[in-house]
Amino acid sequence: MILTITLNPSVDISYKSDSFNQDTVNRIADVSKTAGGKGLNVSRVLKQLEAEVGAAGFLGGNLGDFIRSEISLLGIYDFFTEIQGETRNCIAVIHDEKQTEILEGGPVIAKKEAELFLEKLPENLQQANVVTISGSLPKGLANDFYEKIIGIANRNGTPVLLDTKGELLAQALGSGNSPYLIKPNQEELADLLGEKLTTERQIVEALNSILFADIPWVVVTLGKNGALVKHNNAVYRATAPKIDAVNPVGSGDSVIAGFAAGIARHLAGEELIKYGLSMGVLNAMQAKTGQIDPEKVDWCVRQIQVERILK
Ligand code: ATP
Repeated sequence: MILTITLNPSVDISYKSDSFNQDTVNRIADVSKTAGGKGLNVSRVLKQLEAEVGAAGFLGGNLGDFIRSEISLLGIYDFFTEIQGETRNCIAVIHDEKQTEILEGGPVIAKKEAELFLEKLPENLQQANVVTISGSLPKGLANDFYEKIIGIANRNGTPVLLDTKGELLAQALGSGNSPYLIKPNQEELADLLGEKLTTERQIVEALNSILFADIPWVVVTLGKNGALVKHNNAVYRATAPKIDAVNPVGSGDSVIAGFAAGIARHLAGEELIKYGLSMGVLNAMQAKTGQIDPEKVDWCVRQIQVERILK
């Protein structure tokens, strides 16, 4: 089983309308509500790849129940910790070819709830051979919470794929408890190192940073340009095929799903890179966030070119 961790999930509401006006009533006919949050996107893509998936994090109130029923319909095992607070809504209004977002901050996690999550984790990990951690922390948790999860997983021998940014990523990398894989995009890598990274050469040099010395995989995704991937001491350039991109949002989450499924299936080296990145490409070809066409996986894997550029 692959365990995905989404600590701050949401019910994502999408309102589609021809127009959206302030200071008046807007009536919306086209409404969709889905279980959201980066880790739940990862879970959905994993299910499409026919992996066994468990999802963990914090859920509370009626919106928490909505997410529980959505993941159960998808056949995702429920490892969420119940909280007193109410799970949040995130609203996107799509109008006039624009997108206006209203994002709730979400509940505050109580100290006892955080402790319960960490206490249950070793038992939950007994059933998992890979763990993914995605996104931001809810209020109430200290910045070292990911570091604690990674420490527990490392003691259990379970590889952790960490997809976060800014202070949370910096804290996890400086902690002595290293994740197995991180997946910053170009901007997140530049932000982490406090450097301007515009050329391939600059990114490759950045990958030599001591910060990454103990991380087996650093996957720097570059949108339609593919990725630069550091695996131990080797650096690879992976080129994505030219496609008609419909909606690339969630491609990063799909790459995490691809690497997690690939690792669980014992893929390694260039084969793993091609498989992992394929899910990002396939997600960009779909209108829905966190969705791929499983029938196109073999085709896509064959299209990705991987070239070793540094020993
Ligand atoms: P997000 O935060 O929206 O999940 P991200 O910034 O983390 O995305 P990207 O670098 O945009 O991730 O995309 C991840 C991968 O998906 C890329 O490395 C590439 O393989 C694939 N991809 C994304 N957009 C395209 C595109 N337009 N054409 C081909 N492949 C794409």
